[in-house]
Amino acid sequence: MTKPSVKRAIRSVGRRFREARMIATALKSREHPILAHIVPIRRCNLSCTYCNEYDSISKPVPTAEMLRRIELLAALGTATVTISGGEPLLHPNLDEMIRRIRALGMLAQLITNGYLLTPERIEGLNQAGLDHLQISIDNVMPDETSKKSLRVLDKKLSWLADYAEFDVNINSVLGSSIRNPQDALAIRRRAMELGFASTVGLIHDGSGHVRPLNEQQRFAFEAIASLPKAFHTTALYNRFHRRLAQGLPNQWQCRAGSRYLYICEDGLVHYCSQQRGHPGIPLERYSGDDLKREYHTVKHCAPYCTIPCVQRVAMIDEVRERPLEALGSFFPPKVEGEPLSGLPVWLKILTRMCLPSETGFAAIGTRGWRKVALRLLAVK
Ligand code: SF4
Ligand code: SF4
Repeated sequence: MTKPSVKRAIRSVGRRFREARMIATALKSREHPILAHIVPIRRCNLSCTYCNEYDSISKPVPTAEMLRRIELLAALGTATVTISGGEPLLHPNLDEMIRRIRALGMLAQLITNGYLLTPERIEGLNQAGLDHLQISIDNVMPDETSKKSLRVLDKKLSWLADYAEFDVNINSVLGSSIRNPQDALAIRRRAMELGFASTVGLIHDGSGHVRPLNEQQRFAFEAIASLPKAFHTTALYNRFHRRLAQGLPNQWQCRAGSRYLYICEDGLVHYCSQQRGHPGIPLERYSGDDLKREYHTVKHCAPYCTIPCVQRVAMIDEVRERPLEALGSFFPPKVEGEPLSGLPVWLKILTRMCLPSETGFAAIGTRGWRKVALRLLAVK
């Protein structure tokens, strides 16, 4: 192991603990946001043709205002803050925001196109305490749709492998405007080579709806889905993306506006990047009543929605409300009549220990174990 990868491994132990605490807290209570996206700058240095989340002129949001928004999110009980854009590395005080997120006890994540990464910039993110970085790569060679290309960004990926102490995920988008769907497979293989996680998103239209995949794209999707990946990515594919890739709707309750918040550059709370304007309330006026209302509000865009971070958050609430049914849809049973037979072994054990047993000693044991686990994770 090189020195940075040793440091990364050490730091990841603490991070896994904080992530486990975040999930346990979210399972225990539904009264706080699990994830919030904030936008410190709308401007981007690229202009991908499928994107509706950038402009070429906006100035950075003043740092004091961004720090105030981060504090407001902490006061709502938010567990994780993701900084996105536009291109967030264009903000001159990004590291200060990350430091404030961490100082307030939240997980800090960043989504970037990676163009501005250098060894020094990566070191700055290490020092600030970044937990997780997602870099988006769409194709192998740049084309008129996207310049987020493996060819252009490969050096940046090598620097991340050499210097980053935070988790790195490479995300690529599969859909109609990306010329060669097989590129997603090459990107995924490169991510595995470098020891990074990787995910594949489905391209959406301006309201978050999936754009139907053609046969070639579906083939690439299935090839990627069959490669080894993190259990939570497998669960997301099984729960949502397999059906969407076939053009089929999903039945689920989107918890945007409650468990997930999108805060635009003007400081307004929206459901997500694709449903801006709803509810469109300033963050400083956003309250527990808003969180409660939006938890139950039906979003008519849900059946064909492709927004993975909101779907991940919803999966936590599905487990909280209907554990067996939810886990069975994330990991379909391998044996008929045995709903947990498709789960990875460690999750099967954890599920048996934590899910309520009917009566008697087993029920007492389950309650006792749950109490101990919550205490160990310092969940109040
Ligand atoms: S890099 Fe990201 S924010 Fe910028 S135009 Fe492309 S998709 Fe949009
Ligand atoms: S279902 Fe939710 S996350 Fe998806 S587009 Fe609609 S509001 Fe956004």
